[in-house]
Amino acid sequence: MDKAYIMQKAREENIQFIRLQFTDIMGVLKAISITVDQLEKALDGELMFDGSSIEGFVRIEESDMYLKPDPDTFLILPWTSPTSSGKTARIICDISDANDQPFEGSPRYALSKVLKEALAMGYTMQVGPEPEFFLFNLDHNGLPTLETNDKAGYFDLPPVDKGEEARRDMVETLQTLGFEIEAAHHEVAPGQHEIDFKYAEALKTADNIVTFRIAVRTVAQRHGLHATFMPKPVYGISGSGMHMHCSLFKDGVNIFYDPDKEDGLSDTCRYFIGGVIKHARAICAITNPTVNSYKRLVPGYEAPVYIAWSHQNRSPLIRIPARRGIGTRIEVRHPDPTCNPYLGLAVILKAGLEGIKKQIDPPASVEQNIYEMDLASRKEHGILSLPENLYEALHELSEDEVVQEALGKHIFSRFVAAKMKEWENYSSRVYDWEIDEYLAKF
Ligand code: ADP
Ligand code: MG
Ligand code: MG
Ligand code: MG
Ligand code: MG
Repeated sequence: MDKAYIMQKAREENIQFIRLQFTDIMGVLKAISITVDQLEKALDGELMFDGSSIEGFVRIEESDMYLKPDPDTFLILPWTSPTSSGKTARIICDISDANDQPFEGSPRYALSKVLKEALAMGYTMQVGPEPEFFLFNLDHNGLPTLETNDKAGYFDLPPVDKGEEARRDMVETLQTLGFEIEAAHHEVAPGQHEIDFKYAEALKTADNIVTFRIAVRTVAQRHGLHATFMPKPVYGISGSGMHMHCSLFKDGVNIFYDPDKEDGLSDTCRYFIGGVIKHARAICAITNPTVNSYKRLVPGYEAPVYIAWSHQNRSPLIRIPARRGIGTRIEVRHPDPTCNPYLGLAVILKAGLEGIKKQIDPPASVEQNIYEMDLASRKEHGILSLPENLYEALHELSEDEVVQEALGKHIFSRFVAAKMKEWENYSSRVYDWEIDEYLAKF
């Protein structure tokens, strides 16, 4: 798609408003709405905005920034307000600073930079995500509750209820937005769902995840429900993850596949795994970026806790799905849907490339259920754990120069500062659990 095509589409389809979108460093979607008569100027990259009030962006004295729309991301939105006569479209933007240089604080730029590094080695990264979420009822004031409207479980076909209807509507909406939906099903916990869409190049998938999250939440609201991507909203039942299926292609060929190897995995694939495993603890700060993320990463719910890889079982950090040939891939299982997808994919890819460059051998794969191994036998197998909490993960990130490089100095420092504040805010409070446990006892 180019400027001429978009201008013509805008006329033909009676588009009135265009949302120019980008995300802050936490992955929160931001948009500036313009009317169609500003579109040409926007497409020429001449529109400016004040970046000083965007989380993690810039200080007031350097606040003027340019929006640089990526024409390939032009999309007409299906949920235009019924009160307006024209339609709304969106375009995802890159950001430049006042000197018209790419802005270091833009997460999309951070990912592009690592993708460029991969391309210099001849690789493109393909990614297919599996986002999970909960649907909760709203109360009389329209605020979200923790009550689900179904009691169903994994792959269940509940009698058609609000959750089922909403999920169908989400799938249809996503299809109008150009998504190819591969599967949509009820997940393990009551009120929990998963919608999988087809893999694409990493940048497109990151854009897709951002679009997915807003589409799912918008449709849920229309059905009187609240969709949340919070990783562990309810204690004692499964949390929501966002597994990332990743592979590298070179000249249209999946280079994770090697038919001459017993398990069908190429050396490149093994080194990629080696790199991700080596940097996993620091990667966590980005892929599991909230206090709540670490309440999902506990034993007993199919979420990974230990740093290992496996061909068979679903307890380790990395699983190798059985598919070979063009579908050969690794499934990175610790990310959750609160992750900024641009940064999450940037750090995973960077660690994988580092593994390839340095030929980092992964530890032997573990085919037993790691949850059933005790500390001694985990030690014997050299199996480390993921960070226990956000603080530990941030500490790991501060020590890991490879992962820091993927983020760039600007994002790294802003991210850690903001997240440290979040941690301090959380850890200094007194919670119900403590009162129940200690107040009477001591
Ligand atoms: P699971 O078995 O963990 O439930 P799914 O089948 O639900 O996995 O998800 C598979 C995901 O992997 C989909 O998003 C799919 O498009 C993606 N995928 C398939 N082939 C590749 C590939 N070569 N590279 C990256 N992702 C892929
Ligand atoms: Mg799935
Ligand atoms: Mg699955
Ligand atoms: Mg799932
Ligand atoms: Mg999975």
